[in-house]
Amino acid sequence: MTAALGELRSRFSGVRQGEVASYIPELRRADPDAFGLALVSMDGHPYSVGEARTPFTVQSVSKPFVYALALAELGLDEVSAWVNAEPSGEAFNAISLERGTGRPANAMVNAGALVASSLVPDTPEHPRFDRILAFLSRFAGRPLDVDEAVYRSESVTGDRNRALAYLIRSAGRLPVDPVTATQTYFRQCAVRVNAVDLAVMAATLAHGGENPVTGDRVVSEEVAAQVLAVMATCGMYDASGEWLLRVGLPAKSGVSGGLIAAGPARFGLASYSPPLDAAGTSVRGRAAFAALSQRLGLHLMLNPALPGSTVTLVTTGEDPLPGGGPVAGETGKVAVVAAQGALDFTAAERVLHGLDEAASGGAPSVVLDLARVDGIEPVAYAMLRQGLARLERAGHHVALADPAGRLAAPPGGGRPRDGGPPRFATRAEAAARCAREGGR
Ligand code: GLU
Repeated sequence: MTAALGELRSRFSGVRQGEVASYIPELRRADPDAFGLALVSMDGHPYSVGEARTPFTVQSVSKPFVYALALAELGLDEVSAWVNAEPSGEAFNAISLERGTGRPANAMVNAGALVASSLVPDTPEHPRFDRILAFLSRFAGRPLDVDEAVYRSESVTGDRNRALAYLIRSAGRLPVDPVTATQTYFRQCAVRVNAVDLAVMAATLAHGGENPVTGDRVVSEEVAAQVLAVMATCGMYDASGEWLLRVGLPAKSGVSGGLIAAGPARFGLASYSPPLDAAGTSVRGRAAFAALSQRLGLHLMLNPALPGSTVTLVTTGEDPLPGGGPVAGETGKVAVVAAQGALDFTAAERVLHGLDEAASGGAPSVVLDLARVDGIEPVAYAMLRQGLARLERAGHHVALADPAGRLAAPPGGGRPRDGGPPRFATRAEAAARCAREGGR
């Protein structure tokens, strides 16, 4: 991974297009040659090259995370009453307000971000900005701070954002006064990070809301998915469609040169390189992400179906029973299906198909061997329990080799509706029981 990142860095570090943002005067001081790349895996392994530890202000890359905080505090329905989730097709600082209602288009453009950060609760013990900073820090897995010089610089010059805040307030769509809203928003944008922090933050969203480095559950899986969805459609402003088409990953750009992308259940990626294109995206970052996506096949819609390795054995009962135990070698009595790995929807469908095939041979009993299954999703649990119940209703004896109790109770809590088929530690024991019962 480090070599792949290093290769990208050398390939694109010579690119000279783009301009360092200057409308926030302090950002002009950034080194246009700085170029850092970082990737964090779902096991929390960090890989980085170049200026990946150089501090810069997070700017708009904060927006998905503050949106996450608003969603975690208030829920999607309440947040959506204040800020929509439609791509605006406009620049970051456009007056992207819904006709008639004045509701901002989405939380990735400034108008929506002002509203999202204003929705964060504010109490004397936990002031709004403290919550935001603490929350961003949990995403990054270390305490972050504010670059006061950049904050002041944007505060002094940020009239357009102030104007936006007043406009939204006048439409009754800003929950706090415009001065407070912009102060909080400017501070949030001035939080200092580096590319490795951003990669950990992106990886936390990709990892279903749990920081893969610290193990901290920052938001629920549901909130993480909601944020990634809005990043995918709106994260790159008026370049969002083109980005999803070519790079195919939920992403967010920032005007200081930071860029993140998340591969759901795969990785978090970040870059730092200050020169920007017309849409406010880091030129080198964009080039590097596009090349990496292509080279590693990371496009979300490019999901090649891997050959099924879930079902390792299907016997119909015609074949002699494999393995040791009292009924080994017998035929005609017990059909067997064995599965392995982690069972999700796709894998459960394979197992169900295997069970059908096994039962079609006419054997009175069916054994499902889950001894080598090492995880099961709630949907797979429900599918298998229903499939096995159907086999029982059709008159088969069913038994499980399920030493870990994968089908004993729904994963993640909840009570089973009934006990389900009898469970045994081994396939041989399950087959022996079936052979006895089936022979009755
Ligand atoms: N603080 C910046 C602004 O509101 C953020 C813009 C960006 O990063 O795209 O202008």
